[in-house]
Amino acid sequence: MDKQYSDIAKSRLDELYKGVAMLAESYYIYVCDIKNDYSRWSERAVDYFGLPGKYMYKAGEIWAKHILEEERQMFEENIAAVFSGRSELHDMQYHAQRADGTFVVCTCKGTLLRDGKGEPEFFIGSIRNNEAVGAVDVLTGLKNLYGFFEDLKAVFWQKKWSTIMLIGFSGFSDINDVYGYSFGNRVLQSAARYLEGVFAGRGTVYRMDGTKFCVLTCEMTLLELERIYQMIKAKHSHDFYVDGIHLTISTNAGTVVVDNFNISKETVYSCLRYSYYQSKQQKLGELVVFEDTLSDENRQMVEKINVIRNSITQNCSGFYLCYQPIMDAKAETLKGFEALVRWRNEEYGAVPPMQFIPVLEQDSLFNELGTWILKTAMMDGLDLLKKYPGIIINVNLSYTQIEKHDFVSEVLGLLKETGFPPENLCLEITERCRLLDTNMLRNMFAAFRSYGIKVALDDFGTGFSSLGILRELPVDTVKIDREFVKNIENSASDQNTVEFISGLANAFAAEVCVEGVETESMRDFLRGFLVNSFQGYLYSKPVTKAEIDTIKLKK
Ligand code: C2E
Ligand code: MG
Ligand code: MG
Repeated sequence: MDKQYSDIAKSRLDELYKGVAMLAESYYIYVCDIKNDYSRWSERAVDYFGLPGKYMYKAGEIWAKHILEEERQMFEENIAAVFSGRSELHDMQYHAQRADGTFVVCTCKGTLLRDGKGEPEFFIGSIRNNEAVGAVDVLTGLKNLYGFFEDLKAVFWQKKWSTIMLIGFSGFSDINDVYGYSFGNRVLQSAARYLEGVFAGRGTVYRMDGTKFCVLTCEMTLLELERIYQMIKAKHSHDFYVDGIHLTISTNAGTVVVDNFNISKETVYSCLRYSYYQSKQQKLGELVVFEDTLSDENRQMVEKINVIRNSITQNCSGFYLCYQPIMDAKAETLKGFEALVRWRNEEYGAVPPMQFIPVLEQDSLFNELGTWILKTAMMDGLDLLKKYPGIIINVNLSYTQIEKHDFVSEVLGLLKETGFPPENLCLEITERCRLLDTNMLRNMFAAFRSYGIKVALDDFGTGFSSLGILRELPVDTVKIDREFVKNIENSASDQNTVEFISGLANAFAAEVCVEGVETESMRDFLRGFLVNSFQGYLYSKPVTKAEIDTIKLKK
């Protein structure tokens, strides 16, 4: 068919097309040579609407068939009005059918260019997919998070085996600080162009939140992606110039293989973000492929996470809380319980929290579970308080929860609703949470404490935040992770760590709780340090509320 249309004419049509397409990033563009009824359309429109190709004869007729039948006549009349000269602009909204058979609302505009004799020569126009408006990032011109989910939807619909990689830069705020914000923007723009070039024709690049980019590819293997990521990493750390300035930028990346289409797109995204944070926090920027540390395959693990994620939406069915006693270090009397979440179903059995919390706490849906945990712990806590007056109930918090601006009022609301006394509640903040802005945390802790709610720093010393954080954050308790006490009796470095942390906590008037106390000899050894309470298998493993009665506790 193409042969009938000359190459010269075709290249003119292409020139015209490119000119218009450049001006309209988030629109589908078409140009039509009217005398030959031959058109050039955006490739994206071809894919999205399932058109025969980017060059088409009689595109008007083909397109009309994509318009909802009831609206087709209106469309034809509108176009006819332009050709007859009655109207200057074709401009209307209608429903157009996508490749998957569903309809989307589009705004279509077009105008006629006439030759020297006043005869219609070209018809050029744009189609705006109203659903995808806002799918393009203004700074880089790449599709954004919304566009990513749209494309992921298409991948799921076509059941296309694909791989997604999330790439991000660390230390970007230094660039903004040193060279200014607009230079920082140019860095992002050139990173975007570079990534586009690297994946040209083989994958789509998206700008996600902040300094993160994503690549969705249906053509590249994991091995190829790994090789390309090494190249990207090397480029940004050794050979990256913007406006002639040599920059050293460190990169992190996580990746997920999508080969199972019975899961939600949000689950895929949570797993992707999780592998990205692993790369950033634990692997010095090496590419992390999402898989479980306990050697589950990627597929099984994503599937399991999906089931657990879904149960959050089903009123948190399958979740339950266990309680582990916290004992006074000297008197060995009960001081309180830590609530620890569990999840179980028939297919997977009991799944330990470390398999799902770090993945799902990246997900905004986690808030629902967080609220359920808080409320359940408060309600159980009321019963426990009757039996063990004065005890404290510790509840662990996640990143997503404390990031919420109204989290303090949510906790106060739950206390009011359940009638649980604020002074008997202690909120544990894990290491991952402490990566949030220190000012924000300080204000939040101060607010909690002003209502009598206690705050503890969990897993103290295990992660990346500095020990100096104690100077900046007002807390009631520091919990020393069991990593530091496992070999306390034989390891001089563990002894030094516990001595240092407990000394520091005491200097800031915070109590010290040691976790993972498993034996009497450990307990005796630990009593030689400035510690206030113990938690560990020596006293009890975490048990359900009903089982608490079976623990032998000194009251
Ligand atoms: P964590 O808050 O530091 O909880 C202590 C973990 O150490 C618990 O594991 C507990 O079962 C375990 N443990 C306690 N004593 C001993 C001992 O003597 N020996 C050994 N080997 N282990 C001991 P678990 O329940 O698997 O929880 C792991 C982590 O999952 C928690 O660490 C916490 O970070 C997170 N998590 C658990 N429940 C929740 C929750 O409700 N919300 C949030 N956000 N995170 C939770
Ligand atoms: Mg804890
Ligand atoms: Mg802990």
